Amino acid sequence: MSWLPKTLADEEGGNAMHQCACGRRVPSDMMVDVTALDASIRRIARGGSARGDVPAADYLCDGCRERLIREGAITRESFVRALGAPRAVTKKAAKRDAARGRAR
Ligand SMILES: [Zn+2]
Repeated sequence: MSWLPKTLADEEGGNAMHQCACGRRVPSDMMVDVTALDASIRRIARGGSARGDVPAADYLCDGCRERLIREGAITRESFVRALGAPRAVTKKAAKRDAARGRAR
């Protein structure tokens, strides 16, 4: 089953390079729309605290996603579910979380 989250490329139409909150430059089809995630997570992604010293990120690269998961800010399952992934995808994500001992 393939599923792709909405990205900045869907909004812009093209595939220009963008600088992510982490400083990486990536094409817009790698900048995932994360506005459905909790604002606290989106602030942590930008290097802030959960409570609001920086504005929440609207788009994040895959590196940011993996860092948030690795650091335990969010599980892979919660991440894809919030972005609207179908059940087969959230189940697969939950398996990956469990394999890493991060199921919650
Ligand atoms: Zn990033």
